[in-house]
Amino acid sequence: MLCDDVLLHLAQTPDEASNDFLPLPIRHHLATCLSCQAEQVHYRRVHRELQSLKTITVLPDERLLDDILDSVRPPATVIQLRPSRRRAYVSGIAAAATAGAAGAIVLVSKLSSKGQRLAG
Ligand SMILES: [Zn+2]
Repeated sequence: MLCDDVLLHLAQTPDEASNDFLPLPIRHHLATCLSCQAEQVHYRRVHRELQSLKTITVLPDERLLDDILDSVRPPATVIQLRPSRRRAYVSGIAAAATAGAAGAIVLVSKLSSKGQRLAG
């Protein structure tokens, strides 16, 4: 068993009781290796300090949300269309809306004629 193998398991042992859940070869290595024991003590101290942070509440600055949103929003760019293109877009949109309305009228008339055939 190498120390590197043991180090991978040390984060899972936040206290003395959790040592029992480690595989037996790792427990044997920990019992004899001072380097791994020191590393385990370090992990446990970090774990205790992290546990103590659970009770601390930090209120963010009121401008924090605005600052974050300002930093993630893409910069706005305004695209000016030339008048001839703008007119072409508007006429294209009007033509598409007209075609859609005509399609809806045809569909409704077909459905209503089908309904009359079924009823009559
Ligand atoms: Zn070791």
